[in-house]
Amino acid sequence: MDRTTGFLNEELERKSWDEQRHLQAQRLGGVVAHAAANAPAIGVLLREAGVTPGDIRSLEDLARVPVTPKAKLVELQRENPPFGGLLAVPLAQVRRIFRSPGPIYDPQGFDEGWGWEEALCAAGFRRGDVCINTFGYQMTPAGMMFDDALGALGCPLVPTGVGDREVQIEILRALGVAGFVGMASFLLQIGERAKEQGLDPARDFGLKVAFTTAEPLPDTLRNSVESLFGATVRQGFGTADCGCLAYECHAKGGMHLASRAIVEIADPETGRPLGPGEVGEVVVTLFNKAYPLIRFGTGDLSAVDHGDCACGRRSPKLRGWLGRCDQLVKVKGIFLHPGTVQGALRAFPEVAAFRAVVTRAESRDVLTVKVETAAPDEGLRIRLGERLREVLSIGAEVEWAATGSLPSDGKVIEDLRKWD
Ligand SMILES: [Zn+2]
Repeated sequence: MDRTTGFLNEELERKSWDEQRHLQAQRLGGVVAHAAANAPAIGVLLREAGVTPGDIRSLEDLARVPVTPKAKLVELQRENPPFGGLLAVPLAQVRRIFRSPGPIYDPQGFDEGWGWEEALCAAGFRRGDVCINTFGYQMTPAGMMFDDALGALGCPLVPTGVGDREVQIEILRALGVAGFVGMASFLLQIGERAKEQGLDPARDFGLKVAFTTAEPLPDTLRNSVESLFGATVRQGFGTADCGCLAYECHAKGGMHLASRAIVEIADPETGRPLGPGEVGEVVVTLFNKAYPLIRFGTGDLSAVDHGDCACGRRSPKLRGWLGRCDQLVKVKGIFLHPGTVQGALRAFPEVAAFRAVVTRAESRDVLTVKVETAAPDEGLRIRLGERLREVLSIGAEVEWAATGSLPSDGKVIEDLRKWD
């Protein structure tokens, strides 16, 4: 069976990105008009921004709508329970209501899914594959999201949730399970437990494909799971409120934007849309009728890269999860993220510990990276400085720190600037 090619909706996914954007723009006006008329909170949001639904005709016009962060949804629901004026249909048209930490209540309309079937199809799941869905089914939508998607693809599934590993192993063997949905780290644990039982997961199980989300997937983890099970592991990106936003195809190298949502990368401070390759907040507009989200700020950081892909899909690729917006520190006008600093220094095994410290001198930001190393020399200092400038796009002073002197509190960037 071919699991390396194949589309859920080939005609649409192969259309040029401009054409796909044009189709999204055509639907946008109706969604905004419906939301403004039926969800009082969205009506207020637009009025306060001085925008009428008629002003939103193109994807560029969307930038006139302010970004709504998740914290704002929680606040709206607290002030005006239960849905904060965000529900845009009568209650009889609501199928399920999920509860996520916050708390936040997310209503789901009938016939409104989360679109993961497009991702699962790209990952190699095929009609008739027996699957286990190890995401939780209680309160939060993860379990139901994939339950719906597997059902739509014609994959019989066992709703295992994050259960006991022994029982998962028994089910994998008894039913000849071909597909796994859940966290890759959990699948690795299942495989390791099977090995302890004297089994060889690649030989004794029939697992072919695994789809993972909700946690970063480093190559080391992907490779371990793929070789242990002899299966393909692909990942997707989404949120509890939005569902599927992007997913890997067989060619990997980033995650294609899903056709079901408008995904923008925006400046975390101003909400202004950013260009290809620029890192910013993932901002989402959904075409949902029951619970319309317009420029919802996920709080997650990423970037979008354009270019051709061997799979034939024409949507650009999301670079994956690059951190949370609330960890950002703006230095010399550039957003700095702990992960970027860590990434820059990863190539230097001589660096035992480090801490980036931001101070201000003569009204200017100063970035100092304090480094503990057993071999402090000028050559290393210069190479570190060059690497930091290249990755961070701003200059940094490299300063040696005595061994064991840097606090081990997990903090990567310390902001010591005073603004008064
Ligand atoms: Zn592709």
